[in-house]
Amino acid sequence: MAPNVAMGPTGVSGAGTGRCACRGLPPSADAVTVFRPGDTAMLRAIIVLLALCAFLAVQADDGSPGATRIARWRDDKTAAFMLMFDDSASSQVKFAIPELVKRQMVGTFYVNAGSGQYKAFKDDWEKRIPAMGMELANHTYTHKGATDLAKLDEEVLLCNEAILNVISGGRPHLVSFGIPGVPKGAWTVTNEQIAQVLGKYHLIERPPVGGHFASIDLHGSDEMFKLVQKAIDSGGAQFVIFHGVGGDWLTEPLPDFIDLLDKLVAVRDKLWIAGHIAVHQYQTEREVASVQVTQGGGKQFKVMLSCKADPAFFDAPLTLVTRVPASWKKCHIVQGTAASDAVVEQGTVRYDAVPGTLPVVITGQP
Ligand SMILES: [Zn+2]
Repeated sequence: MAPNVAMGPTGVSGAGTGRCACRGLPPSADAVTVFRPGDTAMLRAIIVLLALCAFLAVQADDGSPGATRIARWRDDKTAAFMLMFDDSASSQVKFAIPELVKRQMVGTFYVNAGSGQYKAFKDDWEKRIPAMGMELANHTYTHKGATDLAKLDEEVLLCNEAILNVISGGRPHLVSFGIPGVPKGAWTVTNEQIAQVLGKYHLIERPPVGGHFASIDLHGSDEMFKLVQKAIDSGGAQFVIFHGVGGDWLTEPLPDFIDLLDKLVAVRDKLWIAGHIAVHQYQTEREVASVQVTQGGGKQFKVMLSCKADPAFFDAPLTLVTRVPASWKKCHIVQGTAASDAVVEQGTVRYDAVPGTLPVVITGQP
């Protein structure tokens, strides 16, 4: 893990290593010998500059009050894990979702808005399930395939319209996409055509699916949990894809599914369980975000979180961790109209911040 680190309230920020940019200019023997005795003033200036760089670098690595890093994952968890469900199968509505809700977990549901099984539970898919925090994703309208660009466009658009009406009142929004598995010859569009249509509708294709299917690649909760462990070991993101759960097709038996969820609960302190778009947004934003910290009157820090990703699609909060003075026991945190209180733990305070122009003001309390 290489968290982004910003320096303390020195006015100098540095996303990435937190080291001074001039560390690539060592005072080599050659460099020094070019100075004649008359150049001592310049030499002295360079020595002072090098010393200053060393001082700033120590400040950043030192974790001085105000030093702020962008957490690798939401809530400063070690890894991210995604539970994905294909085909809007009714057993997901009946059996899988209630088990997720019991454990306050969310999944990503790759629906076919034009299929019979979707229409049979339309109100659930379009009202009840999104209200539980579940993420709807595009698996094409009918799951019957596409043999040319026009058909692909139609299959993707119709499903996407149904999803956008639910999640954003029809406005453009990132949606995850999963290619449907169809009989040979029913999906003959090229990768270029797929990329063209996905780009047009702001769809994000999920990572390569090989080795991630329950009941096809993964048998039983122990095999599925190996992917969870892999995510934790690498600090990365992993996922499992289900079809039927306790019924329907390519069925994962319900006891196995429940067992996996209970195993996830046991490592929840390390795991951010989230939808694919939530993970994609976080990952994209954190890679192009930086923080700048200034101090105000000894009792406050002002943190600016900037992000180079398009704010129209990448507006999800990032988790920041700021080191605070030893005398602070709790903090009041305000960004725009959002306010929260946080307890200081191990000398740091953790909070969510939306990238953009609104500063986060952290006020310490003894
Ligand atoms: Zn499918």
